[in-house]
Order: sequence, then structure tokens, then C-alpha cells
Amino acid sequence: MDDDPRQALAELGIRPRRSLGQHFLIDPRVATRQISHARIRPSDVVLEIGPGLGVLTRLLAERAKRVIAIESDRRFAAYLRRRLPQVEVIQGDALRVDWPRFDVMTSNLPYQISSPLTFRLLDHAFDRAVLMYQWEFARRMRASPGTADYSRLTVGVYRRAACEILERVPRNAFYPQPRVDSALVSLIPRPAPFPLEDPGRFDAVVDSLFAHRRKTVENGLRLGWTAFARSREELEALLPSVPHRTRRVGELSPEEIARIAEAIPMAKG
Ligand code: SAM
Repeated sequence: MDDDPRQALAELGIRPRRSLGQHFLIDPRVATRQISHARIRPSDVVLEIGPGLGVLTRLLAERAKRVIAIESDRRFAAYLRRRLPQVEVIQGDALRVDWPRFDVMTSNLPYQISSPLTFRLLDHAFDRAVLMYQWEFARRMRASPGTADYSRLTVGVYRRAACEILERVPRNAFYPQPRVDSALVSLIPRPAPFPLEDPGRFDAVVDSLFAHRRKTVENGLRLGWTAFARSREELEALLPSVPHRTRRVGELSPEEIARIAEAIPMAKG
């Protein structure tokens, strides 16, 4: 790679901080595959989170109309501005700064913000995303009901996007080497693939139920009653009309959770 991150780090005198998820891609074949999965068109505006030393950024800048990169580490932000002046670098926390409009997101995500970043992404309008996650996290994004990986994340992603694991990426593709493998994941936003009356209420029910995923639906709702009723008694009165109420939360499909949400008349703010 003409821009080996190890060489750049040595020249800059920077030691990567694992606490900031600073694992740099050193296998150029993976970088090339990630970019080709994203099918960048010359008209695309691309947003990259955590560009680091710019391994993906340079390839994106060669293909897209415009690339915006958000990097929290000011040393990497300054380095990128010098090295790729055609890229707009925003120095800041990707969970806090405003995002511009974009068509495509391609990123090797800092793993410690994977979950909030993914939910923030899925609240935006965009065309497609190809993102690198930790392998275990990717499995939770795509899990089936009744499995150990099935979670709030699975349901939250499923209601908002088509999600596909494109490939497993071995840990030795990164420096410093993480303790676990990674996965390239594609996300394509789409409407929920089941009738959904009130997405906000659905999310509130998912949050409440998955706080206790091994419990039954009725016990989960009882533990989170303040979200749905003015009193415990009011919640109890509601329960007989809630479908699947004696089943365990972790076994319910998103469609079944949507039916439960419909039976709960009002999620209090
Ligand atoms: N894209 C580079 C690559 O593939 O080699 C670096 C990827 S590294 C896994 C994650 C990058 O995200 C690091 O450069 C790190 O400094 C940056 N980062 C960590 N937390 C961040 C945050 N909250 N907002 C923006 N960038 C962040």
C-alpha cells in the first residue's frame, strides 16, 4: 500500500490508542473490496466516520463527487487535511457534530461507538452504507429470533434497513491487531417490511421489552410500566389484550413485536 498506516504513524510519532478504536486497515485488498462493495458513483456524496490515516478516504476521493470525513483525533484530522486537501475533514465526535447530506457512508467504525452510530445513521436519509464492524456485533445485527445474538439491535436494524454481512475480515488485516475478527456489512434503508402504525411506539416497546429479553412479554411490560401507563393497575388492565404476552421476548419476531405495540394504546413520552 503506498500509504501504509504503520509508516505514517512512525513518521508522525503517534502511538494508536485502542481506547479510541484506533485499529488501522493494513490489508489493501480489504480496502479495495470495501470500496467496490459500496459501488461509488461519480455523482455520490460520501460520508466517512473515523478516516484515521485515510486508507479508505483516498480511494473514495478518487471515485466520488465529494467526500466528507469526521475524525475525532485532531492529529489525524490535521494530517488528512494536508494529505487530501480535496476532502472536507470535520474534526469532532461523530456522535455529536451535525452530519451533512450524503448518499453513501463507508467507514471502518471505531468499535466503541458502533451501536449509537448505527442508530444515528439509520435516522438519516441515505442510499447505502458499507461499514466495518466487529464480527460479534455484525452477527447481532443479523440474528434470528430465539438465538443468543437476537437483540434490540437486530430488531432496530431490521425495521429500518436491509442488512447483509458481506464478508468476514480477519483480525490480522489491522494494525494494531484487535482481539477479534471484523465483518463488512451492507445497510440499505427501506420501509419496515411489516405493517407499522407508529414507529415511535414500536421503538419504545422494543426498548422496554429488550431490557429484559429472557422474561415474558407481560413481565417485561410490568417492569417498564412507566413508559406505557399512568399506574401499575392501568398496565395490568391492558395486559389481557396484548398478544404473545406469555412468550419470551427473545423469541418474538419483529412482526410479532409490532402487533404487541399496536395493542398498547399510548406510549407516554
Ligand atoms: N479508517 C481508518 C482505517 O480504516 O484504517 C481508521 C479506522 S479506526 C478503526 C477508527 C477511527 O475512528 C480512528 O481514526 C479514531 O481516531 C476515530 N474515532 C474514534 N472515535 C471517534 C468518534 N467518536 N468520532 C469520530 N471519529 C472517531
